[in-house]
Amino acid sequence: MAKVLIVLYPDPVTGYPPEYARDTVPEITEYPGGATLPDPQAIDFVPGQLLGSVSGGLGLKRWLESEGHTVVITSDKEGADSMFERELPDADVVISQPFWPAYLTADRIERAEKLQLVITAGIGSDHTDLNAANARGITVAEVTYSNSISVAEHTVMQVLVLVRDFVTQHRISEEGGWNIADAVSRSYDLEGMRVGVFAAGRIGRAVIERLAPFGVRLSYTDRFRLPREYEERYGLTFHDSIESLVREVDVLTVHAPLTDETRGLLDDELLATMPRGAYIVNPARGAIADRDAIVRALESGRLAGYAGDVWDPQPAPAGHPWRTMPHNAMTTHTSGTSLSGQARYAAGTREILERWFAGEEIRPEYLIVEGGGYRGTGAHSYAQQPTQAAGEQA
Ligand code: NAD
Repeated sequence: MAKVLIVLYPDPVTGYPPEYARDTVPEITEYPGGATLPDPQAIDFVPGQLLGSVSGGLGLKRWLESEGHTVVITSDKEGADSMFERELPDADVVISQPFWPAYLTADRIERAEKLQLVITAGIGSDHTDLNAANARGITVAEVTYSNSISVAEHTVMQVLVLVRDFVTQHRISEEGGWNIADAVSRSYDLEGMRVGVFAAGRIGRAVIERLAPFGVRLSYTDRFRLPREYEERYGLTFHDSIESLVREVDVLTVHAPLTDETRGLLDDELLATMPRGAYIVNPARGAIADRDAIVRALESGRLAGYAGDVWDPQPAPAGHPWRTMPHNAMTTHTSGTSLSGQARYAAGTREILERWFAGEEIRPEYLIVEGGGYRGTGAHSYAQQPTQAAGEQA
């Protein structure tokens, strides 16, 4: 029997469960391209309920305990005295979400002597030191595709919020004002703008497909070039580097995983090559951007706006400069944890656990590392590799 340590964000301050705005979430039957949804033998929650907080427990507690496993669920994850640190040494499985990540550093992995499986309930496993996991042969899996569309929708929203300058206009309305000149002095149409997508994986492609009807000029870069028919369908221009891409965009959206290659990529030097008044929306990982370089670019006017929902670290301290920098439309890390998205990644987490406990293989698209190396989605998206030719996108 295993000990499963689950780190989740705290319950709503008004108590659990919250008052839901709707009674159901629509049923989605397949992902774009025919990829299949999570397929657990059963679920022990109602889709649309809050599952990502401690009391929601990803709908796993009753089932895991009925199978004889020990389950610890906590939101207390920071510092040597935290519940996470105390429970880690004899945990077999650790589960957390990127929104409230249980950082599994090399140090912590060394102390977690029994750890065999780490699950990201969601997408993006950079909060686990993947080299340390590989050195120990620990399996790291995530629920690929579970919230890709959730993030793509949030990205489109934030692009529009920045370009139209929604935040200023809403503030004026809320404060009882009616000064139209103030409300529109930074407001533009998205139509006709050049939108560049950094990394055209599942989220990047969903953003391309959703923004195309706005009449924008689309371009992208990725290590894997998309098939020619896809580029033609969306009028996409391919750039072989981010350096080349950012010179020719009015809006840059960021969808690469955080790796040694992408950490700190959006720095002073790169930002200086963007057209004056460009916008950036980064729902990928906060550490892909240099925190202070973004603030400087907004203050100097090089950037006209920055939005996203990812920070470094998480939760971000109250004094993090991105909370108050000019022309930001930041949200806390929420895009991938809509109630709709939670139902899918909770089901996917259960599917991974069911297969693990039954000694069955985890689907390759869920695997990041296994048996000491990058596998499945990890081999495609995280492992270092050169840019490839057209048509080789997995
Ligand atoms: P994906 O694996 O489908 O796509 C990632 C793409 O990045 C791949 O096409 C890969 O080739 C490309 N890539 C990797 N390194 C690159 C590099 N150095 N240069 C150019 N391209 C590179 O993943 P996805 O589902 O599209 O998710 C992307 C990222 O978004 C995740 O890794 C995660 O960090 C983030 N994410 C955020 C949220 C959120 O709630 N904000 C939710 C889900 C995912």
